[in-house]
Amino acid sequence: MWLNFSGGRALVTGAGKGIGRDTVKALHALGTAVIAVSRTNTDLVSLSEQCPGVETVCVDLGDWEATERALGNVGPVDLLVNNAATLLMQPFLEVTKDVFDRTFNVNLRSVVQVSQIVARGMIQRGVPGSIVNVSSMVAHVTFPNLAVYSSTKGAMTALTKIMAAELGPYKIRVNSVNPTVVPTAMSQKALTYPDLARKLKERHPLRKFAEVEDVVNSILFLLSDRSASTSGSGILVDAGYLAS
Ligand code: NDP
Repeated sequence: MWLNFSGGRALVTGAGKGIGRDTVKALHALGTAVIAVSRTNTDLVSLSEQCPGVETVCVDLGDWEATERALGNVGPVDLLVNNAATLLMQPFLEVTKDVFDRTFNVNLRSVVQVSQIVARGMIQRGVPGSIVNVSSMVAHVTFPNLAVYSSTKGAMTALTKIMAAELGPYKIRVNSVNPTVVPTAMSQKALTYPDLARKLKERHPLRKFAEVEDVVNSILFLLSDRSASTSGSGILVDAGYLAS
């Protein structure tokens, strides 16, 4: 896939580990200036050692005021990847206020806040832009103990469409990627017993989960001009799960 991001500046949230980290590496390898935003500073230090020139911002995106201080004056951004999320598992009947508030603040409210900062800058500069929200296939299907997490991703589907509708006239595209299980620290938490991964894989038509690289490739496609007429949409990276 030939992609050209030269001259653009990208911001990736949740850049310390997993999908966000590999997205930063891929954009950096393509010559894009990148701002990597995450919560654990040691992750950001090692990332900037691997990718010299990457700017880093250490902030808890669940904290509105801290995020405003950290990113309010971030400067020009052309490409945004809203990837940071937290996964706290509870069955519906045991959902607590703390888990509900924390999860919605990190997974959804920060997407609104960071996208507002970035989109206002794009509009002021009169430049086009692309925003990718990293969602999940659980926006569309249910899994045990993911009531709150899945609700944030379901709401993200609506938010992606609303942002696409309101920002489209400014030539800002907004889309999502919706992966199945991807081998990262987050999925290790969800696959709670050894047989679960095997049984779940068997329910996927392709008999596998998605790789981090598969998700990153879809993010890059949606960020790039190769998807110039796509907005308000979502790419399933689900090994066929929703077709099964
Ligand atoms: P990881 O847990 O591997 O990485 C998440 C990154 O986000 C970490 O660097 C983490 O930092 C950071 N982060 C989390 N909370 C905050 C916060 N409050 N402020 C700033 N940074 C934060 O997750 P994945 O790479 O697996 O997930 C990336 C995205 O992909 C998420 O949106 C997730 O919902 C989605 N997804 C993942 C799937 C999977 O199976 N892995 C499947 C479907 C979707 P720290 O470690 O310091 O908290």
